[in-house]
Amino acid sequence: MKTVYLDNNATTQVAPEVLETMFPYFHDFYGNPSSMHSFGGQVAKKLREAREQAAALIGALPDEIIFTSCGTESDNAAIRSALATHPERRHIVTSRVEHPAVRSLCANLADQGYRITELPVDKSGLLDMEQLERSLTPDTAVASLMWANNETGVIFPVEKAVELAHERGVPFHTDAVQSTGKIPIDMKKNVIDMLSISGHKLHAPKGIGILYIRRGTRFTPFMIGGHQEKGRRGGTENTPSIIGLGKACELAARNMETENTRVKRLRDKLETALLERIPQSRVNGDLLQRLPNTTNISFEYVEGEAILLLMNEYGICASSGSACTSGSLQPSHVLRAMGVPFTMAHGSIRFSLSVYNTEEEIDFVIEKLPVIIERLRGMSPFWTSVAQACASS
Ligand code: PLP
Repeated sequence: MKTVYLDNNATTQVAPEVLETMFPYFHDFYGNPSSMHSFGGQVAKKLREAREQAAALIGALPDEIIFTSCGTESDNAAIRSALATHPERRHIVTSRVEHPAVRSLCANLADQGYRITELPVDKSGLLDMEQLERSLTPDTAVASLMWANNETGVIFPVEKAVELAHERGVPFHTDAVQSTGKIPIDMKKNVIDMLSISGHKLHAPKGIGILYIRRGTRFTPFMIGGHQEKGRRGGTENTPSIIGLGKACELAARNMETENTRVKRLRDKLETALLERIPQSRVNGDLLQRLPNTTNISFEYVEGEAILLLMNEYGICASSGSACTSGSLQPSHVLRAMGVPFTMAHGSIRFSLSVYNTEEEIDFVIEKLPVIIERLRGMSPFWTSVAQACASS
């Protein structure tokens, strides 16, 4: 059975060009880039190239790039650095819809006595900017707001947010894990202090990330060890993955415009067709301020997990918005923050596309999903009574 992979916000396929670039650095060129000999020196040269490629994707300077182990580490390093740099400040501003890499860290910091303001979002998932302005105080050590949401794809106005934070002397961090490589990011055009990136969301391997730190930003390292990354992140570098991530950044920069037009067209085709063919369905999240590859659709009166199981029978991979993994059957914190009604939130599915998806795959999903939803609703006594009530009214 062919796999139709529409779960690219969870992780992406390593690009063949990335894999090919990485391969020799596992076996032939395994030297330590910190070594004095030229065998290690040739790897150091390749790391410099990867740093330049990563910097170019976001309009940064190479020395503003630190390689980390993942997006979660980058988020932790940024927020913890801001707290360590301003030990007198005990307040953090963030949002209700952040990824657990920020949200759970903030909950942990709250247990240690920090005051956390989690900003609300409206029903489209957009940030309340007035509340952001009001929440920033001289006691705020950092404002950490994601660039784009992993579940809905909704984009926050980070450029405006960073201005508000800086007017009040508050350092600004953004989790750009989902936006990097999907929409243009130019660090020359805004003054974000720190920004997190994860390799496996942009066709590089898992276990590699980036923390951008603007030149001049005070930084207190989280990982203390050797002199790697100019003392800002100790530990021998994950050389093949860094080199792979550099290549992935180069590909993303080269392909962003053309490929995103194509990816967006496929996403829109899928969304329009599903809404047309499946009654009681709707998109969660703002339709304009949104990543080009993501759509989060609720199918009322069906269980997201059940939809995933039946899609799985056809080889279709996506994600659901209810967190049954926790055993709580609670809908996602993102949809709850947006006030999505219970019956809608439970039947929500996130489809996230990549440059590797094809028209045929989208047509296949458009053909199969209405049948799956009808089958599930046929099993649900509640849906049957709603359908009968609608038919007789
Ligand atoms: N932030 C966002 C918005 C994410 O979507 C993810 C992963 O899903 C992360 C952070 C964590 O990244 P990583 O898996 O590299 O730790």
